[in-house]
Amino acid sequence: MGILSTDGYEAYLVGGCVRDLVMGVTPGDIDICTSALPEDVKRAFSGYRTIDTGIKHGTVTVLIEGCPVEITTFRSEQGYSDSRHPDDVCFISSIEEDLKRRDFTINALAYNESRGLVDFHGGLEDIRQGIIRCVGDPDERFSEDALRIMRAVRFSSKLGFKIEARTLEGMRRNLPGLKRIANERILSELYGILCGDGAGRVMREYPEVFFEVIPELKPMWGFDQHNRHHCYDVWEHTAYAVDGVPNDPLLRMTMLLHDIGKPKSFFIGDDGTGRFLKHPLYGRDISDEVLRRLGCDNASRELIVSLVEAHDLRPTLSRSFARRCLNKWGRDMMRLLFIVVHEDICAQSEWKKDEKLETLRAFEALVQSVIDDMDCVSLSDLTVNGDDLLALGFKEGKSVGEMLSELLSLVIDDELPNEKDALLAYAAERVS
Ligand code: ATP
Ligand code: MG
Repeated sequence: MGILSTDGYEAYLVGGCVRDLVMGVTPGDIDICTSALPEDVKRAFSGYRTIDTGIKHGTVTVLIEGCPVEITTFRSEQGYSDSRHPDDVCFISSIEEDLKRRDFTINALAYNESRGLVDFHGGLEDIRQGIIRCVGDPDERFSEDALRIMRAVRFSSKLGFKIEARTLEGMRRNLPGLKRIANERILSELYGILCGDGAGRVMREYPEVFFEVIPELKPMWGFDQHNRHHCYDVWEHTAYAVDGVPNDPLLRMTMLLHDIGKPKSFFIGDDGTGRFLKHPLYGRDISDEVLRRLGCDNASRELIVSLVEAHDLRPTLSRSFARRCLNKWGRDMMRLLFIVVHEDICAQSEWKKDEKLETLRAFEALVQSVIDDMDCVSLSDLTVNGDDLLALGFKEGKSVGEMLSELLSLVIDDELPNEKDALLAYAAERVS
């Protein structure tokens, strides 16, 4: 900022970084706004590496000691005919006008050494009171850019702030505008919301925002489970489960989706209790569709969907079962699965909770001992391979594959030792 002001321009720290500094939090990224035009910014920082991040919108990124700093010319935005992109960006000379286009009062603060804190919209007081409030008229602001609806929920989740009543009403009225927002931006805000410390709370307070972007979640809301294992409806249970796991985007998303198949699979059994037969399978399919629609990358989608499918783990305390689980899911996913299952149980009723948690703990120890003892859990651990079977006279392809699977299954169940002679002898008797 010193460089710009010695060149005669105004420059301020602005937006989220000022909010964070006021709150005593280390800012995630540094944004500066200035009266200098992009070409002037580049000239002033000719000794630094600069990147033309969005010249048209007035943004140049300057790398200062390896840190990217975004420098944007004061601007106002006019007309949002698609409720997404401003039709026209207009460079202006006053910070006051620039702050008007910002979403919330807490983000409409600016600071520099000569003027100190610039606060035209009561942002400081809103930070003190923990309030998220639109700059200007909420309906206008949310109809200009519906993503702000999700940003409001994200800031609430992350900062523990309440959304002010008129702002909330404006959000609710403008929810349909989210349909016009690119899926990737929705997904990224959704991860942000889920990773906040207040994720469960915002799920309870602003559920309609979640239902707007993932309509498949809506049937969970208020869905009575009619089952002793549960003391909450499906949505409430989900909110607890989301809060329970560490705030990692994939784990949080898994918990949001883990019971999405429940409403569809529900029926009341003969004994009068609620049943959710195969809900993890319904859940897997629905989650897969949802994540594809939101443009989730394949690796993340596959992991989340597998965890949803596996979440209803009912472990048998046998080494064979532990080996089969490792075979099916692998070590890394098992590690995540234990977190998911643990938090799923914790978000259920007290009925048999200790018992369920104890079984889970014992099973985790069993899986660990299978890993430590390097038990055979996969085809590559077997002491025979395809070539050995071909040498015995098995036919290439299916019959070799089938015999290898059979041998693995026998070894996993301790019906044969994982020793070459024993496995070959068994196979030799079955060459067709
Ligand atoms: P974070 O801590 O997530 O970085 P942030 O407030 O810095 O939060 P950014 O997305 O980095 O959010 O945006 C920087 C600033 O730009 C915001 O503080 C706000 O003033 C403004 N801004 C960003 N997105 C919008 C938007 N969609 N509408 C209006 N103003 C916005
Ligand atoms: Mg920021």
